[in-house]
Amino acid sequence: MKAVAVIPGKPNSVHLTDVPKPSLDDVKDGHGVLVKVLKVGVDATDREINDALYGNAPPGDNHLVIGHESFGIVEAVGPKVRNIKPGDYVTATVRRPGGSIYDMIGTYDMTSEETYYERGINLLHGYLTEYFVDHEEYIVKIPQGLKHLHVLMEPMSCAAKAVHQAYEVQRRMRVWRPKTAFVMGVGQIGLLATLVLRLRGLDVYAFARSKPGTLSSKIVEGLQANYVSTSETSVEDIVKKVGKADIILDATGSSHIAFDSMKSLGHNGVLVWTSITGSDRKHEVPSDKINIDWVLGNKLLLGSVNANREHFEMGIKDLAMGEMMYPGVIGQILTNPIDGLDNYKQMMDLLTQDRPPLKVYMNVASE
Ligand code: BGC
Ligand code: ZN
Repeated sequence: MKAVAVIPGKPNSVHLTDVPKPSLDDVKDGHGVLVKVLKVGVDATDREINDALYGNAPPGDNHLVIGHESFGIVEAVGPKVRNIKPGDYVTATVRRPGGSIYDMIGTYDMTSEETYYERGINLLHGYLTEYFVDHEEYIVKIPQGLKHLHVLMEPMSCAAKAVHQAYEVQRRMRVWRPKTAFVMGVGQIGLLATLVLRLRGLDVYAFARSKPGTLSSKIVEGLQANYVSTSETSVEDIVKKVGKADIILDATGSSHIAFDSMKSLGHNGVLVWTSITGSDRKHEVPSDKINIDWVLGNKLLLGSVNANREHFEMGIKDLAMGEMMYPGVIGQILTNPIDGLDNYKQMMDLLTQDRPPLKVYMNVASE
């Protein structure tokens, strides 16, 4: 069957390849699920992998099948599978467990080992192919009523984890009643995080460079959040108006914005970083000022990566609630479909543009 792959370490090596079709017996204990791939989303991580900045091939292979945002339909299940049946719409988690205690209890997103295994990214092949098989443990059912949001389940899981982790660590406060959130960046993670924070009742300010009028700014407004164009209004201006934020989530992909955001966090607040910055850029920061400010304000910096099954389930619930509260808004993220794996070049061209579209995804097959 066809698959889209790269040669990790070799820039711009994306190509179409032929791989064997997986079988249910690949999962030995009878808990396998065979999924026919319908759509796969791509993001900046795929671009960085194709730029040879990130990612590794599975041991013994020199290619890596990419694609980690999956959407498919179940074609067959092993004899021991009870909760998933043929015909179900599903997505799959990305990370697979290593050997730490966190991996053993299903929280592989929190592995304490340096080496991590991620389908389509690091050491495991991904989903940009015609079929995949995995253990039911990693397959997450998508409600019928959300199938129009298909490839957003995985990015949503990362946004859901980031916000959930922030609330978890803020239990240190005994009482934490956040009111104001700043979201840096209005790519898919920024927008999905805006939804998650709005559903928790926060007043959200989403910052990006572009002047209002872009699709992202409209989605922010559709979520009844505040879009701020930093080419018109600075973050400092907003701080003067509404005060520093209780929670800031950075999803810009730009490490210097991630650091600069430290200036805008209020006392007892939490700043969450979610960007994967594979390059080697450097940025000067007012370290004395930040240091004293963070100590005197008991502020917290939190990194958040990936997501486990629980975060997928949380994200799916938030998407369902989001469709009730702001009907049709989140679906507008899904801007650029590319039909057929053969057109992988078109997909990568869109992704590597100076200003990539909001969301590129491949229509791999129809039902
Ligand atoms: C993926 C995550 C992954 C991260 C780091 C992101 O693009 O969505 O699942 O953990 O990259 O590899
Ligand atoms: Zn991703």
